[in-house]
Formats: sequence, structure tokens, C-alpha cells
Amino acid sequence: MAWLLLAPPLVWAALILIFLRPLRAAWREPTLRHPVLIVESDDWGPGPARHATALHRLAECLLKYRDATGRPPVMTLGLTLSLPDSPAIRAAGPALPYQALPLTAPAYADILAAIREGIAAGIFAPQLHGMAHYWPEALMRAGQADPQVLDWILAGPGQETESLPSPLQSRWVDASVLPSRTLPEPEIRAAVAEEIALYTQIFGDSPAVVVPPTFVWTETVEAAWARGGVACVVTPGRRYIGRDAAGKPTTGAMGVALRNGQTGAAGVLYLVRDDYFEPAYGHTAERALDALRGKTAQGRPCLLETHRFNFTGEHAAALRELDRLFAEALSRHTDLRFTSSAELAEQYRRHGDWLETHLARRFAAWVARVRRLPRFWKLARLTGLGLILSGLSNRLA
Ligand SMILES: [Zn+2]
Repeated sequence: MAWLLLAPPLVWAALILIFLRPLRAAWREPTLRHPVLIVESDDWGPGPARHATALHRLAECLLKYRDATGRPPVMTLGLTLSLPDSPAIRAAGPALPYQALPLTAPAYADILAAIREGIAAGIFAPQLHGMAHYWPEALMRAGQADPQVLDWILAGPGQETESLPSPLQSRWVDASVLPSRTLPEPEIRAAVAEEIALYTQIFGDSPAVVVPPTFVWTETVEAAWARGGVACVVTPGRRYIGRDAAGKPTTGAMGVALRNGQTGAAGVLYLVRDDYFEPAYGHTAERALDALRGKTAQGRPCLLETHRFNFTGEHAAALRELDRLFAEALSRHTDLRFTSSAELAEQYRRHGDWLETHLARRFAAWVARVRRLPRFWKLARLTGLGLILSGLSNRLA
């Protein structure tokens, strides 16, 4: 019967072999030494003038707090740089060629001033969301077929892109038809060059970080960003390459998991943002604090995805939750670090001193990560391997 004693180790070895790829990926992802919290807020840019007030209110909230190093919380602003120039498009008549009204137009002066003030104070970190939150030709084609889209195009200067049909909000495909079509490469390259040039003109530096609108982008787009100096792409842990027949984002057959610190073919570094803080949908500070606790155990940064719509409408509850989030995060994690996504990406790229080198602490983070591989962890628990890994991690950490 002695052979029975060998059975569990053999089962564990088989389990590890079957899940080798995700287990190895979880080990290779660098481990952070400190809890890191970044609130990533998308869709800012041209809009109605009241958005400037919303930015000022956010700035007041952020400026109330400091981490142990004296740094205030950073809210990254995923910025679009233009809207349709509605009067010019209307004046051009029935053919309606697209024309853009940039963020630098007088109509948006208060918004741009509020963004610049926050950047100067170290609480806003600009990131490129896109020249626009749509592919202009696709928007115009959709406008020919859909009177509501045409109304939106002509409603400027302060229309909100959030009210466009979701597929049209993907910039890097033509979603005027579904399933979406890919865009011609020369047009992609020209569009990337144009958005980087305008961003650089507005902010003085080329964008370090891009957040692809609706997380739909292709390798061609990514390579063009890299050539334009972009160092980092924020992802939800995967890349969507288009919209399917129902309009849903699709990863295609080759969908692969992306992890923090991984670099793509063109050399850009990926960050993973898969926690959500949308108070307008009822998300509370506690939900965000749970995410922070989980990510901290995993040695990963907590990038909270949020959007301007939480703060530009009925905002009181959203600001209150944001305020509670910072207060509670600082009291629960005394070694919490606030930073920008660009700086965090630099830590990963140059193996900075925020990365853990202590083997036992890396192991504990690895166990916390593999507990989140549902099939693996279920089998690990059933076979006793889960107990051993958790016990080891508790003893070592
Ligand atoms: Zn967006």
C-alpha cells in the first residue's frame, strides 16, 4: 500500500504540468513591494463647459490626501483631443465631410485650463485616449444611415461621446457595419501621427501612455504608437481586435492574456486595469478597497477604471465615495503609494526599487495570484495541493 503515499504528489505534479502556462505567467509577472493605487479616469477632453467644474471638484478632493512619501493621489485622465466641428460640417452641406474641433478650440478653454492646472499640481496625469473616441469616417457613414447619429454629429460643440452607439466608440475599427472591418494601414499610421502631434502640441511632451478606446486596437496601431514614443498601453488584461456581429468587443480566435510588465511586439509595456470604480453604477469605496486589498496580496498595482460620467452629472455621491476611498486606503495601508501609470510602467521597465526581490514574498504573491485561476485552484483544493501552497505561503510571508 506504500504506493498510495506517492499518489498525491503525482496528482499534484500532473496538475502543475496541465496548468504550467498560466502558473508560469503568474510567476514571471513582477511583484510590487508596496500597495499601489491609481484611479484611471477616461473620456475627458472636449465637452460641455460644466466639465471644467467637475475637474475642479475632483482636484479639490485629490489635494486633500498624501501618501507616506508626501505624494497626493494621481488621477490619470484618458483624453480625447477633438469632437466634430458641428457648424463647419453643417455648413459644408449634404456631403458632410468630417471636420474636427480640437481641444484647443475656445469652446473648450475652461476644460483645458482645468486639466492643465491639475497636471501642474501633480494630481492629474494626462494619457492619450485618442484624437477622437471614434473613427471619423465610420461615424460619418453611420450618420448617413442613422438620424440619431447625425443629430449627435451636428449637436456640437459640447456633445458627449458616451451617448454614441457603443460599437462606434471603438476608434481603431470601422464599426459602421457589423462585424466591424479593419482599417487600411496607411490610414492608421496617418491617424496615429496626427493624434500624437496634437497631444504633443497641447501638453509639450508626446504621450507616454495610451488607453485604447473600448480596448479595441490592433498590432498595427500599437506599432504606430510605439514609433511615436508611446511606452505603455493600458489594457483590461486582453486585447480586443474588433466588434462582432452583435456589436460586442471580440478578442478573435487568438485571444491571449496580457500581464503587468509584459511587452508587446513593438516594445510597448502593458499594464492591466481590471478593477472598476463607477459610483454612478453603485460602486462604493468598499468595493474599491476590496480590489486594493486583493491586488496588494497579489503584488500587483490596483488600477481602478472609472469614467468622467461619474463626476460630470449628479456627482455628490461619486465624490463622496472617492473621498472615502482615499481616506480608508491610507488608513488601511500605511505603505500605500500614489503614482501615475507612466511612472509605474517605468518601474516595471527598468526593474526599479518598487519591485520585490525577496523570494518568499514573491512566492506568497504567486499563491495569491494562482488562487484566482478558478479551474486550477478548484482542483488544487480538491487534491490537497491548495492547502500545502496556502500553508507554505503563510509560513514564508
Ligand atoms: Zn473611453
